[in-house]
Amino acid sequence: MTAVGRHTALGLAAGLRGDPWRASSPPIYQTATFEQESASGFGEFDYARSGNPTRETLERHCARLEGAHAACAFASGVAAMTAVARLVRSGERIVAHTGLYGGTQRLLARLADERGVEVVWTDLVDGDPASAVCGARLVLVESLTNPLWRAPDLRALARACDAAGAWLAVDSTAMSPWLQRPTEFGAHLVVHSATKLLAGHADLTAGIVAARDAALAERLAFIQNSEGAVLPPFDSWLLLRSMRTLGVRVARQQATAAEVARALAARGDLVAVHHPSLATHPDHARHAAQSLGAGVVLSFETGDESRSLALVERLERFAIAVSFGSVDSTASVPCRMSHASVPASLRHVAMPPRDLVRLSIGLEDAADLIADLEEALGVEAWRRGSASRP
Ligand SMILES: *Cc1c(COP(=O)(O)O)cnc(C)c1O
Repeated sequence: MTAVGRHTALGLAAGLRGDPWRASSPPIYQTATFEQESASGFGEFDYARSGNPTRETLERHCARLEGAHAACAFASGVAAMTAVARLVRSGERIVAHTGLYGGTQRLLARLADERGVEVVWTDLVDGDPASAVCGARLVLVESLTNPLWRAPDLRALARACDAAGAWLAVDSTAMSPWLQRPTEFGAHLVVHSATKLLAGHADLTAGIVAARDAALAERLAFIQNSEGAVLPPFDSWLLLRSMRTLGVRVARQQATAAEVARALAARGDLVAVHHPSLATHPDHARHAAQSLGAGVVLSFETGDESRSLALVERLERFAIAVSFGSVDSTASVPCRMSHASVPASLRHVAMPPRDLVRLSIGLEDAADLIADLEEALGVEAWRRGSASRP
């Protein structure tokens, strides 16, 4: 991907909408309605579900960052994904990657049960794109996947989708437009749980869908207005504020994540360490060719579920919490936490290893985080009799 446009300014220079005082921070239009010129003459805004200037400033900023025609902001990532799934009619087919976010799997399973949408689960990372997307109306993949950080070949998937007449939607939550812009590789839709990196402070839930062309953007805007799960003005403003530091946060957090991954891999007593910055990662080269970095989250396997559970409880600089991408580091055991929502029918293909520990790296010093991990791993090894007492 190119680095051009990542520093897209957000301020007066970016043409913040309509503020007579030329404020350097966008105003929060905390309003439900807008007075009309007459009973039959509508202004640009009339009702805040259909459009609000604060939300629109956010949406235009997201569209610019993603290289998309337009974007829609929703109350959560799941609401954004719901809008994308609504593009598909009953009887049509969604092809979904087996490793999708647990909440997305639950959503698609419901669509299949209740609305007659055909959902086909398949491996879109290692499988052949052309045969995988055959017959699909919508193809859903994550880049990177969570929590093993596999990288689908975005260009090959987009080409296969174009040939099949399908839309490729990439959930880019783990990357953010700072690290990857799926539209550059031909994706038709980009979805974010803005709750994660875009917000970056674990203080709101939000979702974004960016559409590469005008016709899809129009359909999404219609779904956004008719279903109504819009992002409120204050949350739109807070997200805009957070996105002004996206670049520095991601750059620093992912550099620390790579350092932590290297330190863990060097120990030699872990079963596996997963982060695409490591040359041992199966998609190291592919991901490097289509992104500007490996992201802020990594995971590792201790070989034993109870060791993993004891380990995260021993960590002092990592809060035990779901979600990722905050400026504060967190640790989780996905099998017990974020992936608990994977439907029973998909557990055989979609669950991460039971002993997997996921770390989201924040803005703390790398040395402090590594020392905390070494200490906890050392104590756990000693308790199990495989090392001398620390
Ligand atoms: C968290 C997450 C979602 C869901 O977003 P919410 O904001 O929690 O609704 C979707 N996709 C991915 C990859 C996520 O990590």
